[in-house]
Amino acid sequence: MTPESIPLIKAITLDLDDTLWPIAPAIYRAELALHAWLTVQAPKTAQAFDVAALRAKRDEVALKRPDIAHDFTQVRHESLRLALLESGDDPALSREAFEVFFAARHELELYPEVEDAIRRLASRYPLMALSNGNADIARTMLGPWFRGAISARAFGVGKPDARIFHEACRRLSLEPVQVLHVGDDLELDVLGARNAGLHTFWLRREGCEPMDDARSAGLATVSCLRTLADRLGIPAG
Ligand SMILES: [Mg+2]
Repeated sequence: MTPESIPLIKAITLDLDDTLWPIAPAIYRAELALHAWLTVQAPKTAQAFDVAALRAKRDEVALKRPDIAHDFTQVRHESLRLALLESGDDPALSREAFEVFFAARHELELYPEVEDAIRRLASRYPLMALSNGNADIARTMLGPWFRGAISARAFGVGKPDARIFHEACRRLSLEPVQVLHVGDDLELDVLGARNAGLHTFWLRREGCEPMDDARSAGLATVSCLRTLADRLGIPAG
């Protein structure tokens, strides 16, 4: 992304987790809510699996089931079903258990500048969410500012595969060179989008890993979305 390429940009695709909100605290809160629910509805499972053990079960399913590994919803759902089954509770409770987790997962705390910056970005560009996770942007307070969303779950392949970036361009009726992708992950967001022919800004928030990778040389970076809006020349307020 260079200043000369800014006039080419007609839309922005945005990563969600760790770009608009920190994901670790959101998942942890959701895991606590799920465990509290299990304590009442499936006490044997709650006793056999604490939060860490449920998380280990999820990781185990992701490893053993490459067919569903790109779909965090299915992985979480299947791990709950197995935990219930192994503990002697009704495995059919997994559906409701997942809903408890999923609702809590959307109780997000945005990074401080995000709400204002997204409003600024949306005043000039159509915004599309592009996530490998299972967050549903429409369920968040930012939903009204987004034109659409593509998830690895719904589309069948995730970032960094070029196909998901090209699908975003297709839905926006734009060429890759007219789209800017912004995200926190070097591999998934930045190198993936560049490989697909999109422009990129790498979001590197304060406290992120030092940039010591030869592959990151020459990449355009921003430290927050307010800076992004500034760099794109969108007036504040
Ligand atoms: Mg991310």
